Amino acid sequence: MTVSGFADLQLRPELLKPLADLGYEEPTPIQAEAIPPLLAGSDLLGQAATGTGKTAAFALPVLQRLDAGRAERGPAALVLVPTRELAMQVSQAFHRYGRDLGARVVPIYGGQPIGRQLQALDRGVDVVVATPGRALDHISRGTLDLSAVRTVVLDEADEMLDMGFAEDIEAILVETPEDRQTVLFSATMPGRIDAIARRHLREPVRIQMGRAEPEPGSAPLVRQSAYVVARPHKPAALGRVLDVESPTAAIVFCRTREEVDQLTETLNGRGQRAEALHGGMSQEHRDRVVNRLRDGRADLLVATDVAARGLDIDRLSHVVNYSLPAAPETYVHRIGRVGRAGREGVAITLAEPREHRMLKAVERTTGQRILLQKVPTVADLRTRKLEMTRAALQESLLTDDLERFRVVVETLTDEFDVMEVALAAVKLAHELNGGDLDDEQDIPETALRPERERRDTVRPTGRGAARGGHTTRLFINSGRSNRIRPQDLVGAITGETRLSGRDIGAIEIADKFSLVEVPADAADEVITALRHASIRGRKVLARRDRDKDQRRP
Ligand code: AMP
Repeated sequence: MTVSGFADLQLRPELLKPLADLGYEEPTPIQAEAIPPLLAGSDLLGQAATGTGKTAAFALPVLQRLDAGRAERGPAALVLVPTRELAMQVSQAFHRYGRDLGARVVPIYGGQPIGRQLQALDRGVDVVVATPGRALDHISRGTLDLSAVRTVVLDEADEMLDMGFAEDIEAILVETPEDRQTVLFSATMPGRIDAIARRHLREPVRIQMGRAEPEPGSAPLVRQSAYVVARPHKPAALGRVLDVESPTAAIVFCRTREEVDQLTETLNGRGQRAEALHGGMSQEHRDRVVNRLRDGRADLLVATDVAARGLDIDRLSHVVNYSLPAAPETYVHRIGRVGRAGREGVAITLAEPREHRMLKAVERTTGQRILLQKVPTVADLRTRKLEMTRAALQESLLTDDLERFRVVVETLTDEFDVMEVALAAVKLAHELNGGDLDDEQDIPETALRPERERRDTVRPTGRGAARGGHTTRLFINSGRSNRIRPQDLVGAITGETRLSGRDIGAIEIADKFSLVEVPADAADEVITALRHASIRGRKVLARRDRDKDQRRP
């Protein structure tokens, strides 16, 4: 099965197949705009945040342009990214898209033994995805030859500048051929980015995403809220939000067919009857599903944007963005499905902590605020279920003829108090009404992260500190079960020591403990300071995490 939208972009069949397998139904706006000029060899300056599909926008043209009989002189493309997380993520994307082309992709970042990277480079490579510091290390060792590079991508350029990589980037670009293609993506366009673009890009095509101004009064009146949830907890959070909201009928939007199929299965596994709708299904099958939703035989649809395009269903009360769309305009289309003809509609978004920019862009486009809400806790849900049982009993008291049960109560009150009899009856009613939950796990609270999640350790002075420093991982005997959140740890450490938030590296919170990376030379100070601190009302103990001192790039 081909992906027509991508085929229109003249991508080769070896790229269309993996895209179809990934369940991409059509190019995102940035892909539609950026891919043609990139295929034609133009330089490009793109303003786009994470979540817009920008990775595929630059990866697909790079892969398309790989020669069959490639020179062994080193990589044809170099992608520079600010963090090791992003290096891994971007190289995975290249792997997936380049699967049928046999593309050889090597991520290069600090924190990984250099030997392994050397072997990978030695075996021959088409695309290198690197953090600037480590790329420069390899260049100075003579292990990364950039003389055959035809495309350089600077991804999240504003982040790289913030991290003090400006000089490194300049030094790396000097090593690449002058007639290369240069692509720069950045979420923001401060003057410094412009300056780099003027120096290194030649007549770039300019693309801006997510800047559409709202037409006054164009957005429908819909109650909009968002829950911030880490990806692994999204299915549980969705189930819980649906329990609490009890929609008459809802469409849950996903980005890919895969996601639709997986989520439908998960929801059905949890006892919520959901139907899938995506472009991989026959037209007949899709019509059947839509009709079931229209006439009330189904209440919950999980769909891709393409498949749900143009659906107009009166009984729809809720639209859920299980994944944020790639463009704010798509969000407006999605929520336009509810709140028609003056009825109240509800739009709910499950946002991941790193998606704050996308949420902001959506608010700008709709001209409306999105209320951030907390995912209902197990206790909230219990309260809500008890309330539903109470309401059901109240209705029965008001409307049912209960006379024939009198004899049961009278017999029991010979032996028990009326209150006790009532309690037992409520218990039985509650159980029949759905009763208590099987998923008793609380979903950890997270916040939108103003900067990237788990960023590398950085000090404001930039390059020297960011590249040269050691970090030490600390073990703290308090975790999720003590309701510890990343911001609690950052707060405690910055409150008690001379460190600032930017000095603190990766934070991992496990059930019973947490791990925090701090600059090695401040580790003792942090350990001592935390002896006198309490976090979330509890004394904590910090020590060096055994075996895990790490050398930074
Ligand atoms: P990015 O903005 O590059 O970080 O991409 C955000 C997410 O969108 C990634 O999970 C991609 O796999 C996904 N994605 C990229 N392009 C498409 C597309 N055309 N259709 C559906 N999902 C996509």
